[in-house]
Amino acid sequence: MDPFARLGLRAVVNAKGRYTTLGGSLMAEQVLEAMSAAGRSYVDMFELHRRAGARVAELTRNEAAYVCNGSAAGLFLATLACATGPDDVAIARLPVLGDRDEVVIHRSHRMPMDPAIGLAGVRLVEIGNVMRTEAAELRAALNARTAAVVYMAGDFFAQGALGLPETVAIAHEAGVPVVVDAAALLPPVTNLWHFTAEVGADLAIFSGGKDLSGPQASGMILGRADLVDACFRHGSPHTRLARGMKVGKEEIAGLVAALELYLETDHDKRLERMDAVVATWVDRLGMLPGVRAERSFPNSMGQPVPRAVLEVDPAMAGLDARELAKRLAGGEPSVLVRIRPHERRIFLSPDTLDDDEARLVVERISALVTGRG
Ligand SMILES: *Cc1c(COP(=O)(O)O)cnc(C)c1O
Repeated sequence: MDPFARLGLRAVVNAKGRYTTLGGSLMAEQVLEAMSAAGRSYVDMFELHRRAGARVAELTRNEAAYVCNGSAAGLFLATLACATGPDDVAIARLPVLGDRDEVVIHRSHRMPMDPAIGLAGVRLVEIGNVMRTEAAELRAALNARTAAVVYMAGDFFAQGALGLPETVAIAHEAGVPVVVDAAALLPPVTNLWHFTAEVGADLAIFSGGKDLSGPQASGMILGRADLVDACFRHGSPHTRLARGMKVGKEEIAGLVAALELYLETDHDKRLERMDAVVATWVDRLGMLPGVRAERSFPNSMGQPVPRAVLEVDPAMAGLDARELAKRLAGGEPSVLVRIRPHERRIFLSPDTLDDDEARLVVERISALVTGRG
């Protein structure tokens, strides 16, 4: 029986996307098999980390890789790695940091996940403002105490920040590594090597439980071999500060399987299927009274992910967007859609739904708007 139903939880139809709050993503059969097989034998975890890291590096065209339990852990480990390097004495001294205890970050890159950087004990030094950052501000912020520049990639974070190539060039002049948080920036698949191998960032961090559709508690740190080695020395199974960031053998096996599958996937075909679902939604939902439906592309991060966006006129539709979202969520099964507080628009994501679920979304919205639901 469904373990969630056994605990009394309601079934969920997820038209929002891949969110940690909804359990990340769903795993393919071969990923589940890899995890399940991994749970059946003992293994040397030091060796598993090394071998899995080498495989992930090969697949992602990076010099080295470390499998972690998610991007938040990745930010923490990457920060520690940049602060200490692969120096076992410095690593064993933690949580007392040495002389490199500052991380530079654009003010426009501050976001809810960045306490994971501060957790390493470093001080965040902000540069620029939400509108603009000068190259001279970055230069002035870099000094002997600087462990790293942490950079948020994606269109949403671009306004007000220096570009990544310029950031890398200035940081490298000062001998400071650049860590890119690319947690949710798949697709496109080319991002796996773009930030590091192509643009020259020292490390890039990706979540395993988002578009990769690996285990929810998995992620990867890709890039420079000495820094990746330092991440390994900080992390479990070592009994050091970052022991709490343990990733299990099941997650490691699952992440590798998910990554292999992701690289074999025909992403053009996947996009076609998403577009077909969105086109049907736009057609069918746009016919409802008081509903304007459009295709939205790309997403706010600039990724090639189509969605349907609905604007609801309450005078004609009989309810507003928030009430519609609330009633969809309150039904059985619970249909979850993306709506931001104070927004009148609803976003529907096709990628987390099968065809039956995509039809159900149309039926439920139609019924609520026409007053039959
Ligand atoms: C999702 C996300 C994280 C956290 O990733 P987890 O794998 O859930 O730990 C960090 N940064 C950004 C930008 C994210 O989108």
